[in-house]
Amino acid sequence: MNRYSFCPVCRQLLEWAEIDGRARKICNSCSWVHYINPIPAVLAYVVNRNEELLVVRRAHEPAFNEWALPGGFLEAGEEASDGCLRELMEETSLAGKIDRLVGVYHRNVEKYGSVLVIAYSVVVEDDTLSLNHELSEGAFYPQELIPEVRIPLHLQIIHDAALFELVS
Ligand SMILES: [Zn+2]
Repeated sequence: MNRYSFCPVCRQLLEWAEIDGRARKICNSCSWVHYINPIPAVLAYVVNRNEELLVVRRAHEPAFNEWALPGGFLEAGEEASDGCLRELMEETSLAGKIDRLVGVYHRNVEKYGSVLVIAYSVVVEDDTLSLNHELSEGAFYPQELIPEVRIPLHLQIIHDAALFELVS
């Protein structure tokens, strides 16, 4: 990601420099440094009372048409767990409860650059789905009937969450 060419404070052309051991752009006029930080996102591993897993099909890029876990980006000032439940509600109308943290992951995504992903397992009582425009399909699937999830991070989260269930 190469977001700025000009200083957002004083509009001077930014120059490359090595700062804290990394090549970064800096404004030689006001000393503003173009730090690039990961964008925080959340994913939800959602199970219903029958231990079935919610898998949804994406209606937009990135990963158009792929089977996935629901999730999205955090808003400023929002707790990660609240953001996870908000995204679930927005995409599926499900009111979930956080069960536990599955893990924290980092991925480089072409469209967004560096993304820090926080994954929670979530339980729902009422599993009646109403999908929004971001999804084309979705359902709760028993373990043996889960559609083929090909997004590596989502697969890993499913694996990590299932491992925990085996040992608990
Ligand atoms: Zn500047």
